[in-house]
Amino acid sequence: MDFSISEEYMMLKDSMKEFVKRELMPLEKAMLERELSLWTEPGPLIPEEDHKRLLKKSKELGFWGLEVEEKFGGQGLGMLAKTLVMEELSKSLVGFSNHGFTLPPDAPNLYYLNECCGKSQRERYFVPYCNGDLDSAMACTEPGAGSDVSALKTKAVKNGAKWTINGTKTFISKCDYPEVFFIVIAVTDASASSKGRFTAFLIDRGHPGVRIGREIPVIGAMPTWDLILEDVEVGDEAILGEVGKAFIPLQNRFGVRRIELASNCTGMAERLIQMMIEQANNRITFDKPLAERGIVQNWIADSTMELESVRWMLYYAAWKSDQGHKDLRIEGASVKVAATEMLTRVADRAIQMHGGLGVSHELGIEYVARMVRVWRILEGPSEIHRWSIARQLLKEKKSYNPFIVAKDED
Ligand SMILES: Cc1cc2nc3c(=O)[nH]c(=O)nc-3n(C[C@H](O)[C@H](O)[C@H](O)COP(=O)(O)OP(=O)(O)OC[C@H]3O[C@@H](n4cnc5c(N)ncnc54)[C@H](O)[C@@H]3O)c2cc1C
Repeated sequence: MDFSISEEYMMLKDSMKEFVKRELMPLEKAMLERELSLWTEPGPLIPEEDHKRLLKKSKELGFWGLEVEEKFGGQGLGMLAKTLVMEELSKSLVGFSNHGFTLPPDAPNLYYLNECCGKSQRERYFVPYCNGDLDSAMACTEPGAGSDVSALKTKAVKNGAKWTINGTKTFISKCDYPEVFFIVIAVTDASASSKGRFTAFLIDRGHPGVRIGREIPVIGAMPTWDLILEDVEVGDEAILGEVGKAFIPLQNRFGVRRIELASNCTGMAERLIQMMIEQANNRITFDKPLAERGIVQNWIADSTMELESVRWMLYYAAWKSDQGHKDLRIEGASVKVAATEMLTRVADRAIQMHGGLGVSHELGIEYVARMVRVWRILEGPSEIHRWSIARQLLKEKKSYNPFIVAKDED
């Protein structure tokens, strides 16, 4: 078993480290101050000119479309490369794309679009999306259906050559992006099981009948909106993939997103542990540095053990994705739960170790704690992932073995 990371990947990681130090860290203080007023003054977390400059710089440095095939203007690297780079990126709290800690274009929809786009969709959506001229958002969740996708009510009905779509989506990210298109998941055969029930449609933000509803502010600077679809008419050219076959690519897309979220968690945990080490060595109480207290040592040791166990799960899941395995249900679910819960504990210890400053807005640790609280819900709450892992293993009547699973699928 070879645990080494190629020189090329290490150079990329180092290059992101430098980018974080030079470009992102100087913006962090102002970003944290801005975040305080986000609920009363909605809008971007960092000034538009900084955002544009960072996007441009990231393109020059080769961070853009790391896993996008070279023929579409990307780097043609895989999920492991992206994971390593995103871990570094997540050591700064300045969300690079203004709506989270992803590298442009955001990977989950990238994988979905790459898997399912037809020829004309590739030109109209995929290539501009890879270039950064368009953005994409997933519109799946509804007021009556979050974890339980089978309860979706948004309907697409075919009348002659046109589909008419009606329904209300909720908690949809990126509705404020002017150049966004939605991947709308709608029921096209209510009598079928999940595997034949849903169809995905590509719908522009400005399409007639599409309306952005109320904004739902959430903790952790991740605004979302209601998305209302009223008699939205589209032709077959809007169908992403096959009619009735959205469920599996949707699950695959969630798998990729979960790996991405986990890399945010490991990167942030690494930074918090570094802060804990500095605090432990520098802060003197009762004539001794905190570093000499057993409980403080345990916080650092436990955080490190937990981080490293998640990191190896993460690298394995990313590697498996790079081997072409699309079914990452167990790996994605496991690492998403383990990583978000690990970061929750690490952030809590880091806050405790920093005392009053830990709960202040200055250090940003409480910002991490709020963000990770949201991450334990979006892309599937922990309870659903635990349930789905257990269900799969109970159905297969065998325990998980990563190598057997990988081999079985070949
Ligand atoms: C910041 C943010 C951004 C989001 N962005 C998007 C987006 O861009 N596009 C999109 O489509 N959706 C988005 N979502 C929606 C997100 O995917 C859902 O919130 C999530 O899937 C959970 O669904 P729900 O909120 O309806 O909770 P519910 O499904 O109502 O579940 C509520 C709670 O009940 C418990 N629970 C539910 N079922 C079970 C069970 N079987 N066993 C045990 N416990 C259970 C869990 O603890 C769960 O947290 C976003 C959400 C947030 C918070």
